[in-house]
Amino acid sequence: MRGLYADVIIDISHEAIDRTFQYAIPDDIAGRIQIGSQVNIPFGKGNNLRKGYVIGISDSTEYDESRIKSIDSLCEDGVAAPGRLLALAAWIKENYGSTMINAIQTVMPVKKTVKSVVVRYVVLSCEDVDTWEYRYMKKNARAKLRLLRELMVRPELPMTEATGTLNVSHQAVKAMEDEGVVRIVEDSRYRDVVSDAVRQQAFEAPDIELNSDQQRIVDDFVSDADQGIHRTYLLHGVTGSGKTEVYVRCIREVVRAGRQAIVLIPEIALTYQTLTYFSRYFGNRVTMVNSKLSSGEKYDQFERARKGDVDVVIGPRSALFTPFEKLGLIIIDEEHESSYKSDSPPKYHARETAIERARLEGASVILGSATPSVESYKRALAGEYRLWTMDSRVEGRAMAETSIVDLRDELHRGNRSIISDELANDIADRLSKREQIMLFINKRGYNSFVSCRSCGEAVKCPHCDVSMALHSGNNTQKGVLVCHYCGFRMPEPDKCPACGSKLIGGYGVGTEKVEQEVRRLFPEARTLRMDRDTTSKKNSHEQILESFGRGDADILIGTQMIVKGHDFSRVTLVGVLLADLTLFSGDYRAGERTFDLLTQAAGRAGRGDVPGKVVIQTYKPDNYAITAAASQDYRAFYDIEEAYRSLMRYPPEWNMMVIMGAGMDEEQLANIMDRMYSLIRGKYINAGHLSVIGPSEPAISKIKDVYRRVLYIKHRDYRMLVDVKDYVEEWLKENGENDVSVFFDLNPVNMY
Ligand code: ADP
Ligand code: ZN
Ligand code: ZN
Repeated sequence: MRGLYADVIIDISHEAIDRTFQYAIPDDIAGRIQIGSQVNIPFGKGNNLRKGYVIGISDSTEYDESRIKSIDSLCEDGVAAPGRLLALAAWIKENYGSTMINAIQTVMPVKKTVKSVVVRYVVLSCEDVDTWEYRYMKKNARAKLRLLRELMVRPELPMTEATGTLNVSHQAVKAMEDEGVVRIVEDSRYRDVVSDAVRQQAFEAPDIELNSDQQRIVDDFVSDADQGIHRTYLLHGVTGSGKTEVYVRCIREVVRAGRQAIVLIPEIALTYQTLTYFSRYFGNRVTMVNSKLSSGEKYDQFERARKGDVDVVIGPRSALFTPFEKLGLIIIDEEHESSYKSDSPPKYHARETAIERARLEGASVILGSATPSVESYKRALAGEYRLWTMDSRVEGRAMAETSIVDLRDELHRGNRSIISDELANDIADRLSKREQIMLFINKRGYNSFVSCRSCGEAVKCPHCDVSMALHSGNNTQKGVLVCHYCGFRMPEPDKCPACGSKLIGGYGVGTEKVEQEVRRLFPEARTLRMDRDTTSKKNSHEQILESFGRGDADILIGTQMIVKGHDFSRVTLVGVLLADLTLFSGDYRAGERTFDLLTQAAGRAGRGDVPGKVVIQTYKPDNYAITAAASQDYRAFYDIEEAYRSLMRYPPEWNMMVIMGAGMDEEQLANIMDRMYSLIRGKYINAGHLSVIGPSEPAISKIKDVYRRVLYIKHRDYRMLVDVKDYVEEWLKENGENDVSVFFDLNPVNMY
């Protein structure tokens, strides 16, 4: 873009990137400057030259032209890692709606005032060791002698050891340095974030021979790479088809060519497993980042990446912004997961953002899944992505046998347990064979909510308009109700707050309740529970999974975090206790979520030599998402789902934008949303099939006493929605209210 003025930020390492400064672009660099370029600019009263980054280019200025300074020069042609990330930030701002500052903070590594960890070593630096040994002996310098003799065996010693175990004083070491016998060296070390358990397996790669499917795909990737072709691939491989091995081989090619790779995983719980796998191939050239790291730890990992000390970084969404200088490949495992969409502004989608980053940096993207998102599959069918398919499990292992249990029948037969007779029989069978079992429920807590059998009302949070969750105290005590949105707590009531009836109690099931039931039915079984309550501590995920992997327990009970990706060869039975929980979430993606979860759950069974079985318990045995998952037929599911989406004008055929307004004053909020509605209708009346719905109350119409209202905008063309967003943003500058905040969510993954 050729423009006259550039917005420049001076210091991106500063925590508050609070301002930009406008500079004129001199003619001689006008053709070469771009967003992300580093420039030298005169700054402050003395007009000392400082370095800054261009984050915006425009044709006009709001300032007095005569007072605008000019850019001095361009630091270099092209754009380096920080600049490229800034260009990505500009793209994020444009496509998802947020302030530039917000977008920059999203893509920039944290640089708070974290000191690096400095370790001091004493090293031997003289040739004539024997002479010095003799001298110290003669002088009876015993401490010096001790240190010297130790250094003769180990020429490098941590300072702490010299002054600690060896009991040599600082002065003595210093004196030896002055004598030229030793040197004290400082080594600023990175905080290592990979556990010893993982590091111990470094470079112990299994000797795997790729099967023909895998080989064909890797060959295809290599052939593209050889021709300098970079594109997006969709790897649709059934669970257990060996997708990770394909990732590893492709990364190996990329690393050989001197470039680096980012591997995104949908949640932190998968870190341990993925890291272990990659560590066997890439050793200490792989690391991870995630939100459980301290800012120092995270910063260090980004530094290692920037300096090229690691080749592979693994992590959830935010790892996408690892500042590699020569990024070659981004892998998004389980690409269909909704966690790839940011839940706070800017509400970017990691999949689309990865594709844009790859485009900016000449890299490739591999999206992998057993259940690709409808969006990605549609694009692959259209040829926009290259589709790779792996239909069978490695080593000819069978897909799991599946069985649907109709819970209504169960109730008719008088079984009120949350474990059906069939599932109970299977559990007993596996326990007797010393095989492992996973039971999965998509809820946490005890009974999930309290409702009234007289009036049907659930007890809701007075601030948030959502059902409150019941957390059990113990068997004798009443529980406590907690709001998961604002944290409001109250004791479990004796009677219904709405109608006063005493027929009130907890319904629904959670992991704790399942565990109690399992213990009642199978007192001899050893159980482990994994949910948000048992995994809040730093390494608790790893510990639970390691423990289950070692065989410390027979049954692992958990929320959806146990069904994703884990690879336990001794698990031969998976029970999905209530498949309907995701089906009733009241959102257009409910079918897709249900299908994904069931397929993933089925994928956990029978990964070793013994074939597996999955029992799906449901009140809706005829639903297409459930039947397609049971027959493990992705295409059958996709065809129905895609047709339904198109008919109902949902993504991917259509695009959707939510404009959410929030404010304490309900009337003021309603007023501004009404005006916004008229504004959009007025301007886009002729924009063919732009639909504007609302303003309406979202499912949660109030959080922490802040009211919320939404507008839904739909159009086939994404650019049109961006246009509406820009128009509304512009309008808000003049017409907005300080007390009403407005944000945008393009193609939301959650309903409001
Ligand atoms: P997916 O991610 O497709 O569900 P994984 O990548 O987890 O499958 O692979 C499942 C298991 O199969 C892993 O333990 C992996 O090491 C192993 N595996 C992968 N490829 C092969 C192969 N060609 N031959 C034998 N085992 C393989
Ligand atoms: Zn009631
Ligand atoms: Zn609340």
